[in-house]
Amino acid sequence: MTSPSQSAGTAAPASAGPVDPALIEDLVAASRILAAEGILDGYGHVSVRHPSHPERYLMSRSLAPALVSASDILELDLDSNPVDGRGRTLFRERFIHGTIYRARPDVQAVVHSHSPTVIPFGITDVPLKPTFHMAAFLYAGVPVYEIREESGFTNMLVDDNARGRALAATLGDKPVALMRGHGNVVVGPTLPHAVFRAIYTEVNARQQTVAMAIAQGGPVKYLAPEEGDIITNKKPGDIGRAWQLWKSKVMGPP
Ligand SMILES: [Zn+2]
Repeated sequence: MTSPSQSAGTAAPASAGPVDPALIEDLVAASRILAAEGILDGYGHVSVRHPSHPERYLMSRSLAPALVSASDILELDLDSNPVDGRGRTLFRERFIHGTIYRARPDVQAVVHSHSPTVIPFGITDVPLKPTFHMAAFLYAGVPVYEIREESGFTNMLVDDNARGRALAATLGDKPVALMRGHGNVVVGPTLPHAVFRAIYTEVNARQQTVAMAIAQGGPVKYLAPEEGDIITNKKPGDIGRAWQLWKSKVMGPP
């Protein structure tokens, strides 16, 4: 599926300048990690905000995430126009990223996936809640974006800025929002955080499904909001160790 790279007559935005190749490598790694861990398949994407220009972000051209290399990374403005598209096909749902970066100055990285076990929590009234410490970041609640509310019946894709803004409004100040009948969006203060959260959102959905089945309608003891707050904000764990492991698996040993 293709998409117009930008609207006719719109001048391409100026580049914000070169980026440290190490960040590009991490973005490539993030894409491949999310594919290797089963969060992204042939679809979905990850981006990172430009480190010195908050009005720009970096993401791959439209490509299966496992196949992304450094030469596929493009710079886009927050309306999701490419700086130097050179005719390359862009992700149709890149607007998810630009609109969230605009709405959330604290966010440095965004993942959009269709990670499979999370989907049922967007189509039922069962809220996704943190089952264990690794997914403590879910403690503040996981909102669900209902595309029908503003857009009626659609192809379910967030493929323009208006839908992106509605999704960003649903996300609010949270780290994760589900998209009914489609997928989810995960944000973080760094690229490794966003990847970590995307992976553990899927793991949490699996565990919650198992716990609810075992409980057979009985109570399930989720992390208390107080516990989630301590782990997320006051005594965070070292996600660097997981990032190192995941990265070495897809990029080779450092
Ligand atoms: Zn999607």
